[in-house]
This record gives sequence, structure tokens and C-alpha cells, in this order.
Amino acid sequence: MNPHDVLMDGFRNAGLVGKVLAEIRRVTQHPWAIMEICGGQTHAIMQSGLDQLLPPEIELVHGPGCPVCVTALELVDKALILASNPEIIFCSFGDMLRVPGSQRDLFSVRAAGGDVRVVYSPLDAVKIAQANPEKQVVFFAIGFETTAPVNAMSVVQAQALGLSNYSILVSQVCVPPAMHAILGSPHNRVQGFLAAGHVCAVMGTEEYDPVALQYHVPIVVTGFEPLDLAQGILITVVQLEAGKAEVVNAYTRVVTREGNLPAQALLKKIFEPVDRNWRGIGMIPLSGLGLREEYAAFDAEKRFGIGELKTEESPLCIAGQVLQGVKKPVDCPAFGKACTPTSPLGAPMVSAEGACAAYYRYHKG
Ligand code: SF4
Repeated sequence: MNPHDVLMDGFRNAGLVGKVLAEIRRVTQHPWAIMEICGGQTHAIMQSGLDQLLPPEIELVHGPGCPVCVTALELVDKALILASNPEIIFCSFGDMLRVPGSQRDLFSVRAAGGDVRVVYSPLDAVKIAQANPEKQVVFFAIGFETTAPVNAMSVVQAQALGLSNYSILVSQVCVPPAMHAILGSPHNRVQGFLAAGHVCAVMGTEEYDPVALQYHVPIVVTGFEPLDLAQGILITVVQLEAGKAEVVNAYTRVVTREGNLPAQALLKKIFEPVDRNWRGIGMIPLSGLGLREEYAAFDAEKRFGIGELKTEESPLCIAGQVLQGVKKPVDCPAFGKACTPTSPLGAPMVSAEGACAAYYRYHKG
């Protein structure tokens, strides 16, 4: 057995998780709503049944940290236009192919003859551009701060290789502005956060201090294994019961306070903060990253002159409320009926990090 498996076995140990759960039950005196920001954490919670094992006072609500889910419908529609262009090889992570646009999805464009390719990294898309100089290659650069460095790196590589046929369709979003939007909403129910460990591995934890201070909410940086999640919940509940609101790093095996400084420097060099529309939620000021003017030649929207589009969301989908923790997937009238993983009406039913897909797969009762 390799050392990684041994380490992970420890973080999945039912006995250890049970001890932390017993401690959560012991310290919980009041009802609390805690949001796990990341969709990967939502899936881990549902898969392990952790939500069912907590005391009834603790409610976990699911956050917007699903990159596929929050990619604006307008950008999905722009991706569909680009992917339908016979001059373009359109590259994307696999999850995006089944995300519904206003009328269709990337799978249907591919079925109709579009050259849509699934890649595991934008650096693979750069290689495709190198190998196909007669074609334009566009990569759909979606994601949070976790994917932004490698997307930035693809631009650096394409520039270094002198490629004039590579560009990215940018849908980069950032966590802290979304937390401000959730906490500042009149419908907010969130009293504490489990912050996403992988985002903090890049960005560090400092940027959460002002959020904790302004809204008086504890923010606990948490990993993805059952023991990580149970510990994150325990530290959050202990703070809530004591009236504290501190940023605590409970994922020290991966996250440091300052984060990955070279990755942050790369982000600052290639991207700048921009206003961004989040699907189902709306525009959040300065919540995204866009290419700096010096790198505008790599911006697919500018290269192909795609202007504003009129979009059309399914009237049944309440994904925006699900992504802000206001409603649960099972509150959606379409859940499991008109909307299933094989026939999704909204992105959270498609994505491997979507809350609706997690409930469809794991939720009992
Ligand atoms: S179940 Fe489907 S329709 Fe309902 S919120 Fe989720 S994705 Fe949207």
C-alpha cells in the first residue's frame, strides 16, 4: 500500500470520525446553519452520510463552489457559438459538455459535427494548438482560484511558443466576493463557513480575515475527507457556541497562511479583477478574473468578436437559491422528475461538484 493510501485511510477512519461526531454532539447547544463552500465537499459529505450523523441542531447548507454550476449562461451560449464554428477546435473539461445552454449543450454541438474535445488541462489545449496551426483552438477556462493558475500558465506557454491560434474563453470566479454576496443578502441563513481547502492552498487564508470580521462569522479552512469535514464542523460549532468569529486553518497538511506565492504572482500577471455574472445568482462586483489588456490577444471573446447575447434559463430551475444555501435541491419541484442527471435542466444536476447531482446520487429520504 502506498504512503498516500495509508494517510488517506486515517482521514476516512470511521472510529476517528465517530469520536469527532461525539464531540460535536457534546458541544452543540443551539441551532446553527453552516455552509460548505465547495461542491467537492458537498459530494464528500453526502457520500459519507456525514449530514445524517450530525445532531439535529446542525444544518449543512451547500455553497456556490461548483465552477460548472456558476459559469454564466451567457458564457455557455458563447461557448456553443464558438464550438459550432468549423474553423475552431473547442477544448473543455468534460463536465461542461452536458451543461445546458439556452437551447442546447456542447455534446449536441459535437454530435452535429463540431470539433469539441475533452481535455484534462489547458496545457493539453496548447499542445492541440501547436499540432493544428491551420485551426483556431479555444479553451473554456472555467473555475475558481484553484484552476486559474494553470489557465494563466497556458497563456504564458502559448505566448512563449508564439502561437497565434490559441485563446481562452474566460469564466474565472473568486470565493471571497461570493461570500460577501451571500452574507450581505437579506435572505442569508449562513452563520459559519467551511472554506475550500484547495482554493486556500493557492490563495492562503488572509483574504478571509476581513469577511470573518465584517460579518462576524467563523471561517474554517477544511479538507475533503470525512475526518477533515467533521473536524471543520467541530471547530466551527465550538466558535459559534463561544460567540467567536475567527479564521482557522484546519487543513494544515496542505494550506499555509500565505498560500502559493508563485501561483498568486502568475495570476496577478495574467489576470485582473472584473465584475462577473454567476449563473442563477447574478452579477457580483469584482468577483471574477479577466485577462489583462496586455494579454487581450488570447481572449476568445475579443478575438472572435462575440457581443452580448440574450439568454433563456429554464423557468423551473432554482439553482441560484440552491447555490446560495437558501434552498436545498429537494425543494426544487423539478428535482428527480423533470430534472435528472440524464436530462438536466440546470448545471448543478450535471456537474461532479453540483449539489443537485450529489442529492440525486446519495440523498436518502
Ligand atoms: S434539480 Fe435541476 S432544475 Fe432543480 S435546481 Fe437543481 S439543476 Fe435546477
